[in-house]
Amino acid sequence: MSRRDRTFAEIAAEAKAAPKHERTVRPGGFNVNGELFDPSGHLLSRIGEVSPKRAQELVADGALVAFEGCGCGGSVGCETEWIEPGVLGILASSRPRFVKGHGSPTWIDLWEGDAGLALYAHGDVEWGGLLA
Ligand SMILES: [Zn+2]
Repeated sequence: MSRRDRTFAEIAAEAKAAPKHERTVRPGGFNVNGELFDPSGHLLSRIGEVSPKRAQELVADGALVAFEGCGCGGSVGCETEWIEPGVLGILASSRPRFVKGHGSPTWIDLWEGDAGLALYAHGDVEWGGLLA
């Protein structure tokens, strides 16, 4: 059967069977749909806000750490930056503090993906002298 012989019903059935639109993976950032990925490209889902004390414990257990400094949440205003894995030990040995800074909305979220947990520090978080 040539292409032009196909009926609308056949074409519609074919379109329905086709795989769904592929997710756009943006390693280390948000895609256009507001989905966040770790630096290796694993999709993350937000678990919720955690305390500075809990954040320190989670880093000691191997969680990754991302941050953005303006408090926008990361999907609209600025780029998400990730702490180098070699520096995470410094964070594990000190508790993050919410400082006055620029007066930005400030909080820490926990995210989870196939490769493990990731903390996302927003706004005026100072941690081990690294973020401010
Ligand atoms: Zn921001």
